[in-house]
Amino acid sequence: GPAPEDDGNARSWLAAHNERFGHFINGRFTEPKAKSFDTIEPATGNILATVALGADADIDAAVAAAAKAQSSWQAIGGKKRARHIYALARMVQRHARLFAVLEALDNGKPIRETRDLDVPLVARHFYHHAGWAELQDTEFSGYQPIGVIGQIIPWNFPLLMLAWKVAPALALGNTVVLKPAESTPLTALLFAELASKAGLPAGVLNVVTGDGSTGSLLVGHDKVGKIAFTGSTDVGRRIRAETAGSGKSLTLELGGKSPFIVFDDADLESAIEGVVDAIWFNQGQVCCAGSRLLVQESIHDRFIERLKQRMTTLRVGHPLDKAIDMGAVIEERQLARIRALVAKGVEEGATAFSPPFEMPEDGYFHPPTLLTGVEPASTVATEEIFGPVMVAMSFRTPDEAVALANNTRYGLAASIWSEQISLALDIAPKLKAGVVWVNATNLFDAGVGFGGYRESGYGREGGREGVFEYLKPKAFAARKPRKPL
Ligand code: NAD
Repeated sequence: GPAPEDDGNARSWLAAHNERFGHFINGRFTEPKAKSFDTIEPATGNILATVALGADADIDAAVAAAAKAQSSWQAIGGKKRARHIYALARMVQRHARLFAVLEALDNGKPIRETRDLDVPLVARHFYHHAGWAELQDTEFSGYQPIGVIGQIIPWNFPLLMLAWKVAPALALGNTVVLKPAESTPLTALLFAELASKAGLPAGVLNVVTGDGSTGSLLVGHDKVGKIAFTGSTDVGRRIRAETAGSGKSLTLELGGKSPFIVFDDADLESAIEGVVDAIWFNQGQVCCAGSRLLVQESIHDRFIERLKQRMTTLRVGHPLDKAIDMGAVIEERQLARIRALVAKGVEEGATAFSPPFEMPEDGYFHPPTLLTGVEPASTVATEEIFGPVMVAMSFRTPDEAVALANNTRYGLAASIWSEQISLALDIAPKLKAGVVWVNATNLFDAGVGFGGYRESGYGREGGREGVFEYLKPKAFAARKPRKPL
């Protein structure tokens, strides 16, 4: 791919570590381990670095470090913790380019997205939660931190998911063992290293790299007070079963199949751009992607034609090329899965469209794809594809739109497009989803709780609700002494 004019020292950071990483435990990197695996650059298929595969002893060491650090981290109080959290926010801003490039290399997503969305939202999340830390001593006297938190995150927004989990946990006096996804461990390791340099006390944030087996060890550790998980619904279900009866708190942010509803009076050009953002942002690897396009019958054909035209102007290419709209999908296996689901859709009677343009030869690229004539009960209409594939269906009436929108086992997000605000306001409460956007999509803010209905999970991240996910209520009562002192 094209060399960026400024890689933010991402390559030299990797070289400084000889492209080999241990875990980050108790304020420093452990020695690289013999049991390890490679993390690949999805845009080229090249190995970026080798990281350790976390085993029992690593999880034990990380949890012990977190447990040891927790009491003093709690004891310094909210005001002092806030200073640390503000320092993390500034650290991210100071190294914005490095984080943005490393994330684009490790994940395959466009640098424009990591630069303009992921990294700024990460900084914003830490600033926001520093504010909650400042308020903790005065506003949350009936609550205590939980203790050691085990956090397991996916690969689609590696650094942003770290921020969503680490910021509130630390701000409120907990310490953390984080297990990043096996395909994208690098920005978490960089974050932990730079956090330590920014003065975060040893043991407060530990990163253990590894796969599902490593995550499972963290879930099962008896000194962990809570598991916060973002990932697939299947793994979420397993974790729920594994923690049942353990006394551990649990939040789950899982999959989705969110509806994108276009009424015949919608502003067409805005809605078309909305679709681009809903399903081709981050190659569609977004838990709340508007992946089911529901268009009112009277405008269906016109809308689909216009959308196909727009698709031909999307550019797919190397993530560090600022001129592209879509990068690579995460890995070969995921690419094969997306292709198989598109084929399944066609087999089930849908028509597939992808614009005829050249794709990069190396790496794991999938063109923007639209499936029309999709049956509501078919596989592609019900299963999360987690790739750049939109499935389109039509409806006649608002009631039909609601029924179709809610015809899913998920409930993460929904998007309504209409110039009639009364119609949108009537529909919004009827949609079973954690967030409803009107004439918009993918709007996130640290001040607003994000999370699912139904099989999309439970618990919220961000907002006031998200704060309570990292606290335990504590009642206090005492009798007056019988004898005066
Ligand atoms: P995944 O469930 O396979 O993996 C997620 C994380 O869990 C990884 O770190 C993985 O190593 C770990 N893991 C795997 N098996 C485990 C086990 N048995 N015990 C403990 N940890 C285990 O999901 P993925 O493929 O990385 O991510 C894609 C999925 O994540 C999609 O379904 C997507 O919708 C979902 N997602 C949801 C949200 C949300 O906020 N709701 C956000 C992003 C992604």
